[in-house]
Amino acid sequence: MDQALSLLKKYYGYDSFRKGQASLIEALAIRKRDVVAVMPTGAGKSICYQIPALMMDGITLVISPLMSLMHDQVASLKEAGIPAAYFDSSLSWPQYRKALQLARQGAYKIIYVAPERLLTDIFLDFAKSVSISFVAVDEAHCVSQWGQNFRPAYRDIPEFLAQLPVRPRYGAYTATATVAVLKDIMNWLKLDHPARLITGFDRPNLFFEVQKPKDKKQALLKFLSTRKDECGIIYCQTRKECEEVSDLLQSREFLSAPYHAGLSDEQRSKTQDDFIYDRISVICATNAFGMGIDKSNVRYVVHYSLPHSIENYYQEAGRAGRDGEDSHCLLLYSPADVMTARFIIEHSGEDDLEAANSPERMEAIQRDLAKLRRMVEYCTTRGCLRSSILHYFAQKAQPSCGSCSNCLRKWDELDVTTAAKHVFTLMTSLPCSYGIKMTVDLLKGSRTEKIRSSRLNQVKGYGNLEQMSKAEIETLLDGLLDAGYLEKTGDQYPVLQPASPLFQAVESGEKIMIRTDEEVVFAPVQTARTLNQGLYEHLVKTRWSMARAAGIPPYHIFNDKTLREMARLKPADKDQMLHVSGVGEVKLKVYGEAFLKAIQEYQNK
Ligand code: ADP
Ligand code: ZN
Repeated sequence: MDQALSLLKKYYGYDSFRKGQASLIEALAIRKRDVVAVMPTGAGKSICYQIPALMMDGITLVISPLMSLMHDQVASLKEAGIPAAYFDSSLSWPQYRKALQLARQGAYKIIYVAPERLLTDIFLDFAKSVSISFVAVDEAHCVSQWGQNFRPAYRDIPEFLAQLPVRPRYGAYTATATVAVLKDIMNWLKLDHPARLITGFDRPNLFFEVQKPKDKKQALLKFLSTRKDECGIIYCQTRKECEEVSDLLQSREFLSAPYHAGLSDEQRSKTQDDFIYDRISVICATNAFGMGIDKSNVRYVVHYSLPHSIENYYQEAGRAGRDGEDSHCLLLYSPADVMTARFIIEHSGEDDLEAANSPERMEAIQRDLAKLRRMVEYCTTRGCLRSSILHYFAQKAQPSCGSCSNCLRKWDELDVTTAAKHVFTLMTSLPCSYGIKMTVDLLKGSRTEKIRSSRLNQVKGYGNLEQMSKAEIETLLDGLLDAGYLEKTGDQYPVLQPASPLFQAVESGEKIMIRTDEEVVFAPVQTARTLNQGLYEHLVKTRWSMARAAGIPPYHIFNDKTLREMARLKPADKDQMLHVSGVGEVKLKVYGEAFLKAIQEYQNK
């Protein structure tokens, strides 16, 4: 593994591997096994196939779904001094032929290819005539219909492999893997007893916050008031909303632009480039934006409207902080958004008259509504936001993370021991479990037709909270749910059940406390960011002018994290510069001098 470490230092400028990276690289390059890796965005998947590629003889193919992603990766590999190319539909026919010819002569170590090319005659000819030692499938969830980005051509990959004279090593990489998606990856890609790496989904550098503002525009402006120089994405529901929010920000002198399906391809790609090259700092976009955006210095993602599922939310919010620096994910919640979302889900697919009443469509609607309900729970919970997300992905989580808005909020604690005992009595006497509304009616002692006809008014506990209003009972149940005393089961028709902490508390007679709303009194902790801020900003400017001159995105030169460390360590010569994480030998040669000069300049000012 010494070789892997020295490649890491030489080309990427990093001193050590992150959790999981080393074991994956070892499995592939040394133990010669197939691998499958599920790692959250920003965990460093690319290095897990690029370093093995450098360690093996022959060519590595990386199958990737998106042009922008391929172009970005190839450009950064070239920056780092690694010969790479992409084969996708952006190449003209003569360019493609030329690139294939160069590839045959061994000009590239890593080749990115679109899945649709694999089974074409010309590509197969090429692939059979060279030595391909490793095939890495990036964004492997595209093979699954359960994921959001199904790409039929991904299913051709095993057939492509079967046609090669020698079967190469084979690896699949993804950040999204619910159990169903992971199963599909294993079934369709036909990896050979792969070494598996499934790292946690947690992104410790992301701060999660939910606000329920009366006026979203004001809330947004307040949030952005300290973030004028930072890059961010604001996700909106509609084209109109994208335009409005972008106009608002422009009127406050933010460098912002809208991005949605109503703009021409040309405008969209210009806006995307402006964002990637740091010519604008905020993009106000529908969820059409972001797939394949590898920009590492997105410092915040704001959801101006409600995402329809936790999967979508985590994927979009996860575009913040890929470089590992602290970043903020804010969701502005309004109950009215839930109605809009329900409407969209219930009417989706109704234009297709043949399928409009099909059981499949009905099932899909129910499934999507269940996902939406879970998203609303995230917005309304008083518990830890991070653990709410991690539980959704069936991951273990601490009950409190200490770095989300709910964990930092000061709550009023309310002693509800007596009322909770009544809830317990009712629930343990009922013949089966019910949803929130029915449970409220039973505790309140309502005389609805359903209650009378099923004689539930004779159950022990019925009407025990008669003196409370229905809204108060609902708040009580919500609070007990958030605190883990009750749990919800059943996906489509969720019902309430007492959870083991409630049994324990009733038995032992301990106090039962819930949280009630309180005004927010936290300020997310600002990290060391303010230290050396002046020098850091000077280095950002230096980077910007160099990137502009070279026509490349600034973060390809060095990412924010590297510049921050440079500002902290203030290297005085090339040797010291090499100690900065993110400065490798190749980049040192190309950029070292200029940054050393910039540091000196700033210090002599
Ligand atoms: P992913 O594809 O998993 O979203 P990337 O491969 O884009 O993540 O890596 C995210 C960031 O982390 C990049 O800026 C990358 O240079 C950095 N990174 C990856 N591995 C390491 C490491 N071992 N040490 C420091 N930084 C790393
Ligand atoms: Zn938390």
